[in-house]
Amino acid sequence: MKYRRAKLPCVVGTALATFGCLATPTPLAPGLGGSVGVPHHGVLTGAVELPSAGPGFVRYRPRGPNHWGIPRLVATVVRAAATVDRELPGGAPLVVGDLSAKHGGKIPGHRSHRTGRDVDLLFFTTTPRGASEKSPGFVRFGPDGLAATPNDRAFTRLDLERNWRLVRTLVTYPNAATQWLFVSRDIEAMLIDYALARGEPLEVIWPAEAMMLQPGDSSPHDDHFHVRLACTAEEAVAGCEGGGPRWDWLAPLPSLEALSLEELLAIERGDPPVLLPLPSVESGA
Ligand SMILES: [Zn+2]
Repeated sequence: MKYRRAKLPCVVGTALATFGCLATPTPLAPGLGGSVGVPHHGVLTGAVELPSAGPGFVRYRPRGPNHWGIPRLVATVVRAAATVDRELPGGAPLVVGDLSAKHGGKIPGHRSHRTGRDVDLLFFTTTPRGASEKSPGFVRFGPDGLAATPNDRAFTRLDLERNWRLVRTLVTYPNAATQWLFVSRDIEAMLIDYALARGEPLEVIWPAEAMMLQPGDSSPHDDHFHVRLACTAEEAVAGCEGGGPRWDWLAPLPSLEALSLEELLAIERGDPPVLLPLPSVESGA
């Protein structure tokens, strides 16, 4: 397997630092793999490609090289789209933008999206009269929930019902371990107001509100969601670095300082991790 070389910060904290500052997956560090490094500075191995279309979704670009992610990310997108489609059948599909390149690293138009844990999802939209319609693309929604379509001859409306169901699935899907849903403050406010008005449980609204964030160092994300998954415990052992908060409702990462020398050597040899059971997220928590 070919890996792209890139400089990375020391990975996985103090444990692997025992073996020096590791760079990319190499024969010298066979234990590294999957999503390696931080989203803005890392690589990807063992990626799977999101199909060009499936139940409830289509890719924004039917062709193109940047639709690869860790299997958990691709499964999360497929699952979320299918869930919205099943709950509200007959609507327009979720339009999925870029994930990552097959081996990670920088891709055009993105600072992150380098380690297979990021994906852009266009908003579900409706006509001004409220009929579901396919997203016209990356159009910017204001606080009134309206956006001018690319030809400026019409408006499209944010489909709060479908977008909330998408958020709800990303927050509650047990294996997703979503870390962030980057989106503008105005759209977050509309979605939370909608969820409160629907009487959604606070155990869902609170994580959704915590995960939705307008980033301070990039575009306000008023034209799409940017979804980022957290590292699971196993992925962290294999080199995944979080680069963000570790929410209370996600499974804890391993305490690497507590590992024995034997366990550290097993990681270095690339033996299957036996340190913790597979992490999971409580549904609805
Ligand atoms: Zn993005």
